[in-house]
Amino acid sequence: MSYETVIGLEVHLQLKTATKAFCGCSTTFGRKPNSQTCPVCLGFPGSMPVLNEEAFLFAVKVALALNCKIQDLIKFDRKNYYYPDLPKNFQISQYDMPLSYSGFLDIFGRDNTKKRIEIKRVHLEEDAGKLIHQGCDNSSLVDFNRSGMPLLEIVTEPDIDSPQDAYAYLIKLKSILEYLKVSDCDMEKGSLRCDANISVRKSGERNLGTKVELKNMNTFKGVRVALEYEVKRQISLVESKENVAQETRLWDAQKEVTISMRSKEEAEDYRYFPEPDLVPFVVDKSVIEKIRQSLPELPEAKSLRLVKEFGISEYDAGVLTSQQELADYFEACAKLYPDRKVIANWMMGDIMSQLNLRNISINELRLFPDGLAGLLKMVDTGIISGKMAKSVLAEAIETGFGPEELVKKKALSQISDAAKIEEIMKVVLEREAKTVKDYKLGKKTAFTFLVGQIMKETKGRANPAIVNELLKKRLEQ
Ligand code: ADP
Ligand code: MG
Ligand code: ZN
Repeated sequence: MSYETVIGLEVHLQLKTATKAFCGCSTTFGRKPNSQTCPVCLGFPGSMPVLNEEAFLFAVKVALALNCKIQDLIKFDRKNYYYPDLPKNFQISQYDMPLSYSGFLDIFGRDNTKKRIEIKRVHLEEDAGKLIHQGCDNSSLVDFNRSGMPLLEIVTEPDIDSPQDAYAYLIKLKSILEYLKVSDCDMEKGSLRCDANISVRKSGERNLGTKVELKNMNTFKGVRVALEYEVKRQISLVESKENVAQETRLWDAQKEVTISMRSKEEAEDYRYFPEPDLVPFVVDKSVIEKIRQSLPELPEAKSLRLVKEFGISEYDAGVLTSQQELADYFEACAKLYPDRKVIANWMMGDIMSQLNLRNISINELRLFPDGLAGLLKMVDTGIISGKMAKSVLAEAIETGFGPEELVKKKALSQISDAAKIEEIMKVVLEREAKTVKDYKLGKKTAFTFLVGQIMKETKGRANPAIVNELLKKRLEQ
């Protein structure tokens, strides 16, 4: 029996506005608990929320970038439930008239084909406070600094057919959100969170299976692995003719298993009703158009342009446009150095591995585009070899000195002076008289060995092309 996997993702994104969604409190992360609160975000009776314009504009930006339609009449609703981190006993959210709906995001799916993931809605809501389970005597503490922070909820249709595609969607989504500069998109700090809904069904079956909601994954890889685990768990239940319970399960990253948290059998009833303190509103089309015009060039468009303008491969362009800063770096280099494929290779090879090694972003790299261009030019003109360039690059990043400066300072430059190479060659050939004899008797591989010996003698600094040429001349005498 073969099965299909059905996944729908809900991403919560904290917007990096200066103040909270419905009051003037600061959103700065990491301040003293409960120092950024007021009657509105503490839910005092009689306090009145006012929508933060910046939060609204950020939300529209995201909605448009995800190809969503903006609702003609936008309304906020109260989602009622009781929890100690929710002082009002309701969350201001959006129910039947959300900010936006019917968008999509294109990804490269698991078989490397383009797939369109439908986005159901992007709506604006507020965050709850944060419980800290570190009080004395088994008590818990609550920090309301997060209460009322603006959150976007980005919900896909049950449209994703594998954990790999869910992962590809999240990577692509994060890349777009970073381009828009509306959030830190930092899963570790909780500014980006993902709940994953998953069900399985027999191939060909039209109805969706019972879904399980997975929470508590704090990396994208965690989401993927949790989903992979859950696919297996659900299929084995179905195989043994047991029911999949509709429930919320938590991912335990240490044990790599999902654990039942709460049953969702009784559909939650949040008693949504319109938020009476925020009137429904219409957004002028011209405002929307202005925001649309202000969107930056997004990764996909940028990638197409880089392929067309600079002749790099689609794959390379995809990697280089995954972050706007990487693409900017590439374009700055492309202005200074003509062979763009070479730039792409260096960026995706040595530079990226240096970034990973040091756990830094390209903005923090102490080798600037003019430095890289200078380095590549020194290779072209034979001042240094490609191999030397690699170590110069690493040293430039380590020390912050420019590559040209480093090469000059260390007299690293390649030996291209024929007389000097002849001199070294003479010494090597005398020492390797036997190999020379072998070569003359027809052992062609001896040639490479001799080149290697000369390179070794010069610590890799001899220009290999000249060594080859001179050695050939000498052995054929
Ligand atoms: P809820 O009211 O439980 O939040 P929604 O309809 O809002 O349900 O859907 C929440 C998420 O679950 C969406 O991303 C949706 O695509 C996904 N989803 C809904 N049904 C299924 C299913 N049977 N299998 C997998 N995902 C599903
Ligand atoms: Mg939901
Ligand atoms: Zn407040």
